[in-house]
Amino acid sequence: MLSKRISIKVDIVTGGLFVFLFFVPVILQGQQYDLLIKNGHVIDSKNNIDAIKDIAVTKGKIAKVANDIPAAQSTKTVDATGLYVVPGLIDIHTHVFVGAQADKFADGIYSVSPDDFTFKSGVTTVVDAGTSGWRNFSLFKEQVIDKSQTRVLAFVNIAGSGMSGKPTQEDINDMNADSAALVAEKYKDIIVGIKIGHYEGNDWTPFNKALDASKKSNTPLFVECHLPQYSLEDQLQKMRPGDIITHSYEQVSERMPVVDEHGKLRPFVLAAQKKGVLFDVGHGGAGFWFSQAIPAFQQGLVPNSFGSDLHRFSMNAGMKSMLNIMSKYMAIGMTLEDVIRHATWNSAKSIKREDLGNLDVGAVADIAVLSLTTGKFGFIDAAGKRLEGNHKLEAELTIRAGKIVWDLNGISAQPWKQ
Ligand SMILES: [Zn+2]
Repeated sequence: MLSKRISIKVDIVTGGLFVFLFFVPVILQGQQYDLLIKNGHVIDSKNNIDAIKDIAVTKGKIAKVANDIPAAQSTKTVDATGLYVVPGLIDIHTHVFVGAQADKFADGIYSVSPDDFTFKSGVTTVVDAGTSGWRNFSLFKEQVIDKSQTRVLAFVNIAGSGMSGKPTQEDINDMNADSAALVAEKYKDIIVGIKIGHYEGNDWTPFNKALDASKKSNTPLFVECHLPQYSLEDQLQKMRPGDIITHSYEQVSERMPVVDEHGKLRPFVLAAQKKGVLFDVGHGGAGFWFSQAIPAFQQGLVPNSFGSDLHRFSMNAGMKSMLNIMSKYMAIGMTLEDVIRHATWNSAKSIKREDLGNLDVGAVADIAVLSLTTGKFGFIDAAGKRLEGNHKLEAELTIRAGKIVWDLNGISAQPWKQ
C-alpha cells in the first residue's frame, strides 16, 4: 500500500477564521495486493459463490473477492478468463511418509513425497492416512511434514509404528489408545484423527482401541479396509457420525462390497451415511470399481470426499490424481459444482478444519485455478474397465499460502521477448 503524508492548507473564510489542517494522511491508489486473479469463474461452496469474480491476495491471505478489482492495485495480475478459481483441493487419503526403507509404507519407498504430486493437480492439503503411528509420528513430522510446501495433516495410526508391515502393524500390544490420543493432542494442529486399517484377526480390540483413542482426542476415526474378519455392517454400526470409512467402492475379498451381487446398494450402508458416517472414495490401486461406484451413486450413496489413496502403486494406475477422480465422477453423473464442493469445503469439514477449503477474506490463500476441457476422455477403474466421459479438469495454476507453486502454461509469467 502506498500512502503519503502531505500537508493541506485549507482556508475557510468564515468570520476571519482560518483553519489549517496539517499532515492529513492521503491514501493514494497503489499496489496494495501481491496477486490478483482476474475474470475467473469462482466456485466457493462455503460462501455460495458460483460466478465470475476477481480475487486479491496479500501476505498469503485472501484479501478481497469482488466483481472488479483494478489490476493497478496489484503487483502481479493473472488473467483467469475461461478458467475456474476454487479453494486449494484437499485430499484426505494419502500415504506420504516417504523414507528409505524397502517394502514399507512407513518411512519407506511405498509412500510418495507430497510436493511431487499435489500441486500439479491443484491439491494444497493432504491428509496422511495412518502411515505413521503414535510411536513414529515425530519422525514423519521431522522428515516430511516440516519439509513440505504442501500442507500435510495426518490421521495417526492406532498401531504404534503405523504401516510398518506385518507382523508389527498387527501387534495388539503396540496399539495404545492413550498414547495415540496424547500424540493427537500434542500435535493437534496437524493430527486430524485416528486410523485403524490393518488387522487380520477377528478380535475387535484393535478397532475398539482406535475408537477409544478417537473419543479421547475428540477426533474422527478413519477406517481403511484391510480388516477381513470384521463385517462391514458391524464396522458401520460401531462408527459414529463424523467417522470416515474409505475405499467405499472396492470389490475385493477383504471387505463386503457396498453393492450386493444383484446390483443393489445394501440398505445398512445408506443408513450409515444417513446416520452421519462419511464415505471417502479412497481410490488407490484396488479401491475403486465402477461395478460398485456407479450403482451406489445411482442409488444415493454419493461420496463425501475424493481421497485418492495416493501412494507408489496407485499414482500411475486408474487413480492418477485427485482431479482425475473428480473428472471421473463428472462422467458418473456429478456436476462440476458438486465435485468442487466435495473436494474443498466438504473435505475440510470432514477433517474438522473449517479454516480450509474456502475463500473467506482472511483465509489462507490456497487456491486452485482449473481448466475444464470438453472432449472425449476415458477413465479406468481397479478392474481395468474404461468409462467414457466428456469433461476433464486440469490444474492451470496452484497457489499455496499466496505463493504460485504450479503454473502449467505460464499464465502468471511475463511473455518472453528477444
Ligand atoms: Zn490408504
